[in-house]
Amino acid sequence: MPQARPGRLIKRQARLTMLQLHQVSKSFASVSNPALHPTSLEVASQEILVVLGSSGSGKSTLLKLINRLLDPSSGHILFKQRRLDSYNPVMLRRSIGYVFQAVGLLPHLSVADNVSIVARLQGETRHACRQLARQHLTLVELDPDTYGPRLPHELSGGQQQRVGVARALATGADLLLMDEPFGALDAITRDQLQQQLLLLKQRLGKTIVFVTHDIFEALTLADRIAVLHQGQLHQLGSKQQLINHPATDFVRDLFQKPLQQLTRYNSL
Ligand code: ADP
Ligand code: MG
Repeated sequence: MPQARPGRLIKRQARLTMLQLHQVSKSFASVSNPALHPTSLEVASQEILVVLGSSGSGKSTLLKLINRLLDPSSGHILFKQRRLDSYNPVMLRRSIGYVFQAVGLLPHLSVADNVSIVARLQGETRHACRQLARQHLTLVELDPDTYGPRLPHELSGGQQQRVGVARALATGADLLLMDEPFGALDAITRDQLQQQLLLLKQRLGKTIVFVTHDIFEALTLADRIAVLHQGQLHQLGSKQQLINHPATDFVRDLFQKPLQQLTRYNSL
């Protein structure tokens, strides 16, 4: 077998990083404390990084910096080894899918047209858009013949959220940013969508940055978890690292209570 030259090895490893944040911070003029203190982290290709934190901890700010809805006050972000600000914004929208809690479907367009909206705007033919919508509705387990022609308000909350995921996938994005997407759903629907997201991720090999305030959702979905508190990254690591070797008192307390509760239920 030929020996891999060191140079090649480094190149291959470099390709495995989807996203790098270098000392990225964000302050808003109207607020004295930064929404995000200088933060460095990497997201590997095809991993699910869950950003876990309570309300106001800077989670949405972090996601908006990654898809350039916001520009950082300091630091820089690399997406596929290139600085984010060097990308054409249209290209970037195509490469980074965004799914959020208030799904944001266009109410006057059919579900199928919502799914294929980006392709439509890019001038794809009606036929290609129809195919794209069919394919991606099927992926999220919505029958395209039944649901494709409906308007968004004719779907349940869980179904609308599936459409949101289908729309993000239909852009062909390698990276999905998900901002508390299942937060408004009942526990059973949320569980179904979490399981489906794991299957989709495995099948399609997407990289996902998933924001939540729910520890159990984080534990269910994450390859690694980043804990944010008051705009500071307290720890980034595997579930085992966070639970067994918390880096701060905050991380320790965060996991201790729910785990104690679980143990108590378990012993009932
Ligand atoms: P999270 O998503 O974790 O709930 P956010 O990232 O939305 O938190 O907000 C973090 C902090 O930044 C909050 O204190 C919030 O009030 C503040 N913030 C967010 N967006 C703005 C804005 N556009 N202008 C001023 N302050 C903001
Ligand atoms: Mg938020």
